[in-house]
Amino acid sequence: MDLGIAGRKAIVCASSKGLGRACAEQLAAEGVKVVISARSAGPLEATADAIRSAGGEAVAVVCDVTAPEGRAALLEACPDPDILINNAGGPPPGDFRNWARDDWIKAIDANMLTAIELIKMTVDGMMQRRFGRIVNITSAAVKAPIDVLGLSNGARAGLTGFCAGIARQTVRRNVTLNGLLPGPFDTDRLTGTLAAVAKKQGKSIEEAAEERAKNNPAGRFGDPAEFGQACAFLCSAKAGFITGQNIVLDGGAFPGTL
Ligand code: NAP
Repeated sequence: MDLGIAGRKAIVCASSKGLGRACAEQLAAEGVKVVISARSAGPLEATADAIRSAGGEAVAVVCDVTAPEGRAALLEACPDPDILINNAGGPPPGDFRNWARDDWIKAIDANMLTAIELIKMTVDGMMQRRFGRIVNITSAAVKAPIDVLGLSNGARAGLTGFCAGIARQTVRRNVTLNGLLPGPFDTDRLTGTLAAVAKKQGKSIEEAAEERAKNNPAGRFGDPAEFGQACAFLCSAKAGFITGQNIVLDGGAFPGTL
């Protein structure tokens, strides 16, 4: 299927690795010009080179997307994006008894307010141009909270609630807003969370990973490319009737009927 977005422009936040990178690669494969970003220059340049070697167009912006200057740098590189993929690193696990106000502010800044600011900076232009696709990378924890990830559960639920309110106001102008909720995908972030689980349970990371993958209905972790492909479809010209949705990609781990 031709997704109908060749020549469109995208800002893909936090995209030198993992899920953000996979989204950038799939969009670039569809002919979208992508602006990618991360705080460390080396892996970001390597990702931009990989996209270009595969025939895509990529501009790399080294920045912290959670800082106002970082978001301004992204908009400077791509002033009129057609597509915005909101993403940032996830907050650390822990016990809520140990979190101070500053820990909450950091999590809310990274996983709620950063996305809201970027939406504010781009959505009116998209509506004027009669095309826009906004995808927030959140977490399956929005639907089924993970106890040790309370900072993530809280901040991402806030973003999801806000977006539910505006997704219905923009779709008449062909601007959609949806959430993609990853379950376990094989990325550095997953390895990091598994390391914490392994330590707590006195196992090796390999044992913890094997057990977690085996317990998923799919019997495996997700491949980031599968995530990128779902993202590219939601950003496509064909997906203009899908808005305000939160789509879980978790191999069937969420046990509900709906
Ligand atoms: P990852 O493999 O660790 O990649 C994170 C990417 O984001 C890197 O490119 C990193 O580069 C960049 N980044 C992080 N903070 C940034 C910032 N402040 N500004 C700009 N770039 C930043 O993580 P992932 O697995 O793709 O996860 C992406 C998101 O999905 C996270 O919020 C994570 O919590 C969530 N999630 C992931 C899973 C999973 O199984 N993988 C499951 C549920 C939710 P730099 O470090 O160089 O900045």
